[in-house]
Amino acid sequence: MREVGCPEEDLFSFLSSKRREDLGYRNILSSMCTSPHPVAARAHAMFLETNLGDPGLFPGTAALEGLLVERLGALMHHPGAGGYATSGGTESNIQAFRIAKKLKPVQFPNVVVPASAHFSFQKACDILGIEMRTASLDADFRIDAEALDGLVDRNTVCLVGIVGTTEYGMVDPVARLSDLAEERDVFLHIDAAFGGMVVPFLDRPIPFDFRLSGVDSISVDPHKMGMSTIPAGCLLVRDPDYFSSLNVETPYLTVKRECTLAGTRPGASVAAAFAVLEYLGMDGMRAVVAGCMENTRRLIEGMETFGCPRAVTPDVNVATFSCDRPPAGWRVSRTRAGHMRIVCMPHVTRDVIEAVLNDMSDTHA
Ligand SMILES: *Cc1c(COP(=O)(O)O)cnc(C)c1O
Repeated sequence: MREVGCPEEDLFSFLSSKRREDLGYRNILSSMCTSPHPVAARAHAMFLETNLGDPGLFPGTAALEGLLVERLGALMHHPGAGGYATSGGTESNIQAFRIAKKLKPVQFPNVVVPASAHFSFQKACDILGIEMRTASLDADFRIDAEALDGLVDRNTVCLVGIVGTTEYGMVDPVARLSDLAEERDVFLHIDAAFGGMVVPFLDRPIPFDFRLSGVDSISVDPHKMGMSTIPAGCLLVRDPDYFSSLNVETPYLTVKRECTLAGTRPGASVAAAFAVLEYLGMDGMRAVVAGCMENTRRLIEGMETFGCPRAVTPDVNVATFSCDRPPAGWRVSRTRAGHMRIVCMPHVTRDVIEAVLNDMSDTHA
């Protein structure tokens, strides 16, 4: 550290110079995050100093967390779901595995995840000492339920289905997974970090939530398609009592027990997440999602006219292509299999899509 502090103006001109090195979302085509909705930014600023790690000191903010969980639980057709606001999909997935492992204490636990699983599951297995078994996918990049079934044994503590895969935007056949989980009497976790804020707002929602009786827990991230500030995730569970297995005693806080992974937790992004849901309502979210899906279709159609075929027709707003030459000047990523990948987030507007296609026509002229 400096011996003597830096004058504020100098400090902030340094910070601005660093901030200018960041990319604006305008040119980012491959992120699952987006510019926060204006009401999210406003709510975030109001709750800057709040700490949900000590809810007795911030009962108003804690009530907002309760409301966020209630709203998301209702969206997932289970208003009585238990839950709490996490730092994102990674923490939610770790915590879901912790619960599943506690509920079935075996000596050598394993989980079965699809090959499309997000890398957070690797972290979860490493931390928890769980063997990760990977089930193959079908031709449309969805989990092959029979392959999954073949990997289950008496040490399997959890099955995972994905709603909106990170790479290809696919929704696994959760109804089938739910039946399998019930037949095999295994905990079923649904990773809807991305798709949880998309699928419920589609014209024809694909069933994946607590209405399917085998589904035990769901990850959903307001800081992705929920347009909240970072960090805002949520873990929802069918039976609120599942969390009691994670409780530790917290003698010097206003509450006696804590089941969360983090201790000190931001209230600001939680207020922001709630604000967006409340402000937009079902109607507003349907409009946002309809726009993103329409843009996804337009992008796919346009790319195909340049000889870049889609890898698959996605269930949510993630488009992937066989394309060697991406449009110049845009940030795009590639999947593990090498497909070019564009996530049609709300900041990827129709104008952006047309600009991308225009640059494709230059690249491919
Ligand atoms: C983004 C994502 C995650 C990880 O969420 P973080 O918020 O980055 O921790 C997990 N699963 C899926 C399907 C995701 O898309």
